[in-house]
Amino acid sequence: MQFKDSSTNAFYQKISAFIPQNRLFTDPLKTLAWGADASFYRQLPQMVVFPKDEEETARVLKTANEHGVPVVFRASGTSLSGQASTKSVLLVAGQLWERYEVLDNGERIKLQPGILGGRVNEILAKYGRKFPPDPASINAARVGGVISNNASGMNCGTHANSERVMESAKLIFADGTILDVADPKSREDFSKNKPDFLKRLLEIRDSVRNDAELFELIERKYRIKNVTGLNLRPLIAYDDPFDVISRLIVGSEGTLAFLAEATMKTEKIPARCASAMIYANTLREACCAVQILKKAPVVSAEILDRKALRSVEDSPSVPDFIKDLGPDASAVLLETKAETVEELEKQIDEIKSSLADFPLLFPVEFTEDPKIYGAWWAMRSGVFPTVGGMRDLGTTALIEDVAFPIDVLPEATVELQALIDKYGYKDGVIYGHALEGNFHFVLNQRFDSQAEIDRYKGLMLEVVDLVVDKYHGSLKAEHGTGRNMAPFVEREWGAKAFSVMKELKALFDPNNVLNPGVIFNDDPECYIKDFKPLPPTNPIVDKCIECGFCEPNCLTCGNTLSSRQRIVVRREISRLKRDQSDPARLDALQRAYRVPGEATCAGDGLCSTSCPMGINVGELTHALREENAPKGSCAYKLGDFSAKNLSCVKSCLRPVLGLARIGRNVLGDAGTTTVGRLLHKFGLPLWTPSLPKPFKIKKSRVPRAEFADSSSNAYKEGVDKVVYFPSCINQTMGGSLKEQPLVETTVKLLEKAGFTVVFPPQYENLCCGTIWESKGMPDIADRKTKELEEALWKASCEGKYPVLCDQSPCLHRMREKISKMELFEPAEFIEKFLVDRLDFHQIDEPISVHITCTMRKMKLGQTLVDLAKRCSSNVLVPEEIGCCGFAGDKGFTRPEINAFALRKLEPQIKENGVVAGYSNSRTCEVGLSTNSGVPYMSIVYLVDRCTTPKK
Ligand SMILES: Cc1cc2nc3c(=O)[nH]c(=O)nc-3n(C[C@H](O)[C@H](O)[C@H](O)COP(=O)(O)OP(=O)(O)OC[C@H]3O[C@@H](n4cnc5c(N)ncnc54)[C@H](O)[C@@H]3O)c2cc1C
Repeated sequence: MQFKDSSTNAFYQKISAFIPQNRLFTDPLKTLAWGADASFYRQLPQMVVFPKDEEETARVLKTANEHGVPVVFRASGTSLSGQASTKSVLLVAGQLWERYEVLDNGERIKLQPGILGGRVNEILAKYGRKFPPDPASINAARVGGVISNNASGMNCGTHANSERVMESAKLIFADGTILDVADPKSREDFSKNKPDFLKRLLEIRDSVRNDAELFELIERKYRIKNVTGLNLRPLIAYDDPFDVISRLIVGSEGTLAFLAEATMKTEKIPARCASAMIYANTLREACCAVQILKKAPVVSAEILDRKALRSVEDSPSVPDFIKDLGPDASAVLLETKAETVEELEKQIDEIKSSLADFPLLFPVEFTEDPKIYGAWWAMRSGVFPTVGGMRDLGTTALIEDVAFPIDVLPEATVELQALIDKYGYKDGVIYGHALEGNFHFVLNQRFDSQAEIDRYKGLMLEVVDLVVDKYHGSLKAEHGTGRNMAPFVEREWGAKAFSVMKELKALFDPNNVLNPGVIFNDDPECYIKDFKPLPPTNPIVDKCIECGFCEPNCLTCGNTLSSRQRIVVRREISRLKRDQSDPARLDALQRAYRVPGEATCAGDGLCSTSCPMGINVGELTHALREENAPKGSCAYKLGDFSAKNLSCVKSCLRPVLGLARIGRNVLGDAGTTTVGRLLHKFGLPLWTPSLPKPFKIKKSRVPRAEFADSSSNAYKEGVDKVVYFPSCINQTMGGSLKEQPLVETTVKLLEKAGFTVVFPPQYENLCCGTIWESKGMPDIADRKTKELEEALWKASCEGKYPVLCDQSPCLHRMREKISKMELFEPAEFIEKFLVDRLDFHQIDEPISVHITCTMRKMKLGQTLVDLAKRCSSNVLVPEEIGCCGFAGDKGFTRPEINAFALRKLEPQIKENGVVAGYSNSRTCEVGLSTNSGVPYMSIVYLVDRCTTPKK
């Protein structure tokens, strides 16, 4: 590998001696994919490195420092100000840095930087506690990024941000020195080895403390949220130099040192909370109300200006009267929290009386009903995605982030609104954490012409005048300085404070290798350079803002490409196709995309569940597959043939499964695993002991079931019938052990509950179409669904009998496409129709439950868990297991994706002594069995085992 400059070459040579190639990327695909963060800037790294531990990181940093090669750290890349990207080396500390230790019964927690904020909250919830910093991006952001940006949100204000709740940190400096502030030995070593560092730090600290004007400035500026520049508060707030060092890292955006570990205090989740939505005639009045609320027992007060309200007014959860409010009406969403009912009521009274004389549009009404206040908070959270979703193609949705002192909030906010109007940002909504004086404004901005860049520049320069000169606020309250505000740090803080920041930077990073250009940037125009191109690629994903919220739900994130990275690469491919500027790069990207981009995308669409705009990258993958298998191609013809002859295809598959079964009987489980892996290396689908036996429905085995014919099955009043459509998978695959095939067990269970089972006519040839949809043949898929619909319509006597399908992914597609009859998956059907007809006999065997992606999408996960809990008193829902990655057939052809997606399963299964797992998708169950060490099967088996007919 050759780089343009010799220092990068030397750096690469040295680090490739200890970082293996699967954790060091220089290719066009991966450097492009990892280059993107959520900001509107784009810089492509020359290499992306994934050190696995502190030792490797220290060596990488030391080498970079020696060669003067810039390094930028990356957690999740949800940053908005351009602080998580680079043209040099990107060092990712994400999934390999997820360890944690809960301390003092959850009162403190030790965290590595790669753990997701949402995961920390999940861990702490068991202790009734939470991670105090609460950015809206908490589920997608990682601890390293949250702390390094000093990110905050609706509740943590300035009192519970990372600096306030940090207890200690472990840092790796640019020269490779590791300091664990919590470890006396490490402090002692540091003092011995770096006496000059400590001496200089104390000099800087004391010079600040001895300068009354500077001291007062620092105190004043941190009374409201402020993340512009380096965090200077530690210099006046902490005496111990090591406490100062660890807190200086908060908000330093990777410019001072690498954060390898942090111990943080946690926060108790209050027992009770209540919210109120209040409405004022104008934005100014809403701000005045917030000034009053600042003195009341309120934990958050979120303002939504008229445009923000208008952006969400069409949402079904938003009350109709919002549409009729006046032209400047604004809302404030309040929250108050307490430990007891009495305390909460007292607080509500106090808030109400504080606003008693205030001219609000409606009386203040609090609610403790999560359904009602949930809708309000959803309305607040919906502002950004809705505005972003309405933007024109080719524009990017910018979120700006300023704060004003609370005493000037009304006039400053009104002037901010006027500025946004002056520059013609029609959708420029203002909303945010008014209690902290912090507002976001969203701009849908183009950067493809000088006029547009000038417009943005004009606005920003006037915003700086307004925020800094006129109202002495913060240019960045939460999102970090980045390169976006770097040219204005000195303007905001003044020369003296800025020189202190520069001295700190020089002390920590004398060779300026850690994130140069961020916070400190000599180019006064750096904020209007390196804009990210957002060329159209496919309407399915064109609205994507590359925020990265999808990534925690993308099973290949961190393995091949994430959903966001797929979009980034497709955009670049489309741009290169249009420009014709670099055919070699276009060709390289197109070829490189095939496996990591297309072939390994499970297409499950779970990414859409956490995307603010609901974008489903699985649909993009299906569209690309459609392009690759056009009508008339061999693949299409084969697909068409299989669809028309499904029952024959199944008949051909059964002998293959039979052969595999004979092989397993001969070789045993261990032998099958070894031979299966070997054969897979030669390109064959993976053969494992979990592969099911062949199966065919025999009428003699389900004697009482009715097999509907095409002349329809007469509806009989008072007869409990259910139309059972066994998915084609369950018509072909039986169990993997000695269990009765699922179809027979399902019939047995239904009959036990007094139902007569009807199979639809021609069931052998029926399919929901999912297979063809996933292969990019939507017309064939729809044809199969239509056939199925007709058969089910007849068998159910035009919808009079309920229809049950035993495979959740199939049922999901059926529900999306067939609306004229009631369709159920097993857990749901059992909960609705069978529980009252059966006696449950709970076992205490430890079992686990896998919630498939489609169960999640249909919001049936809890139904499955509840049903399992009726059957066993010991149910494990393994943590951090999303999509299993089997994706219909991919588990056979790309088992590595299945194994990656389930990498955290087996340890939990072992730790909890689980003996069997239950789900409702046969193919997922094959992969789950292979990767967990215990058999997984349909929940129907468990219910059948644990029930008898109702006495
Ligand atoms: C839609 C949306 C909403 C958002 N809402 C909020 C909000 O409400 N409040 C808020 O504060 N922010 C918000 N953000 C911004 C952003 O999500 C947060 O600041 C978040 O904490 C960044 O975390 P990350 O894991 O993505 O970090 P990254 O973006 O990966 O990194 C952030 C910074 O930390 C540095 N860094 C990362 N890891 C380390 C490490 N181990 N050691 C040293 N430095 C490191 C990086 O170099 C970078 O400068 C939002 C972003 C989006 C897209």
